[in-house]
Amino acid sequence: MQSKIDETIALLKQAEDEYGPDLVFASSFGAEDVLLIDLISKHARSIQIVTLDTGRLPQQTYDVMDACRDKYGIKIEVYFPDTAEVEAMVRESGLNLFYHSVENRKRCCEIRKIHPLKRALAGKKAWITGVRREQADSRQTMSMVEDDTYFGLTKFNPLIEWTQAEVWNYIRDNDVPYNALHDQHYPSIGCACCTRAITVGEDPRSGRWWWEQEDGVAECGLHASPIKRK
Ligand code: SF4
Repeated sequence: MQSKIDETIALLKQAEDEYGPDLVFASSFGAEDVLLIDLISKHARSIQIVTLDTGRLPQQTYDVMDACRDKYGIKIEVYFPDTAEVEAMVRESGLNLFYHSVENRKRCCEIRKIHPLKRALAGKKAWITGVRREQADSRQTMSMVEDDTYFGLTKFNPLIEWTQAEVWNYIRDNDVPYNALHDQHYPSIGCACCTRAITVGEDPRSGRWWWEQEDGVAECGLHASPIKRK
């Protein structure tokens, strides 16, 4: 466990040294992300932390954002969707459009997440994420450092080899603030309307966009098809 922590710290420091102000950590304040915030605040403090407020987040996510801000004394840049884009989408398709078709759901994720993330990453050369390999089949081929062809950046995934148990051991051992929804059986937390609790034995990703059956476990497009570098 300590060797994994040391390896993660070393990668964060390497990313910080290599990319400086051209590097951001995009956090959604899930369990993995608060772990990384704890490590960044202690070992690589100049790394900028950004997050997306889609406008549909649960209160518990705002609570953990402020808890981290207060505990670690860090700055968190919050990016919001473009007002005109959201207004046009809602005018055309309603507030709950994502339940009506996959196309609508992708459009909503595009406007509320992808476009703000593109603004957050604009002019940057590298970004850090909290993805882990065991979270989804689509993450099996991801590696610790890769070329993200979608965003045109180097992507660091320092927790790619961490297990869920290791993440929670770290959080408990280090008294890291975490989203209270995790204690109510929410393994993966996104927008309130698109996230639910799961039962024992269910795939953790089935807590997101559960009404979409045809493509198996759904992804929002934030971590699409990167190319392995090492
Ligand atoms: S998770 Fe749901 S509400 Fe959030 S951006 Fe995607 S479709 Fe829209």
